[in-house]
Amino acid sequence: MTDRSTQDTVSFGFTDVPRTEKAGLVRGVFDRSARRYDLMNDLMSVGVHRVWKDMVITRANPQPGERLIDVAGGTGDLARSFLTKADRAGERRGDPRKAEAVVLDINEQMLRAGVKRGVSEAQAGRISWVTGNAECLPLKDRSAHCVTISTGIRNVTDRISALKEMRRVLKPGGRFLCLEFTRPTSRAWEKIYDAWSFNVMPTLGEWVAKDRDSYQYLVESIRRFPDQDSFADELREAGFNRVSYTNFSGGIAALHTGWA
Ligand code: SAM
Repeated sequence: MTDRSTQDTVSFGFTDVPRTEKAGLVRGVFDRSARRYDLMNDLMSVGVHRVWKDMVITRANPQPGERLIDVAGGTGDLARSFLTKADRAGERRGDPRKAEAVVLDINEQMLRAGVKRGVSEAQAGRISWVTGNAECLPLKDRSAHCVTISTGIRNVTDRISALKEMRRVLKPGGRFLCLEFTRPTSRAWEKIYDAWSFNVMPTLGEWVAKDRDSYQYLVESIRRFPDQDSFADELREAGFNRVSYTNFSGGIAALHTGWA
């Protein structure tokens, strides 16, 4: 679907809303879904989101002593996985330096759900949970080796500002990885995916989270997000180098990468 939003309005699912209202509406969606977020993620993606996230972190190639900033990090899946993989790399090489991670999210309820889920003993004290907006990160310039954002960028009002902010906090040569729902690469696959997402996902939201509207928004927001090539151009516009993307599961999601 083409995004017909004007300068003064932005898409909120299939509805155009005043630019100033989107962040509050998105916050409402995640306030309502925070409590059941991890369970719903597993149900809606039949567990596939775990495989995608694992592929993101494998590509991130975490190293001992590195600092990750996971923007729109929600309950902290990527941060936990980054630290685990960095520790394994350290053990293999006999390097005792510990990696650390910042999980930043606009929504305190999501962060609270992540804190409540806890971390392993080995990761205790190595994850900072920070409330903030991706469009104006409360973090220092050039302070991370790696920045990730997983299924978060489509919720942001001003994508280019957020992408520039994520580039700002990366050290020179640092890597940026963005996982997002995108466009299936074949018409037949798109039809199956549409049937699943427009029928099953809002119904699951209604049954499990008692909230059909939030899951209807999630499905619609995916359709309003640019296609893979257009989003790659936005990364270049924000100043990233060597931009490329890899489709996951026939283009249902894609991993875009770039370098500061
Ligand atoms: N990254 C996590 C994951 O992959 O499980 C959470 C993804 S969840 C679908 C989207 C997250 O984006 C929510 O936690 C929401 O609060 C956050 N979010 C939405 N708009 C944001 C913004 N402008 N700045 C920071 N976080 C935002």
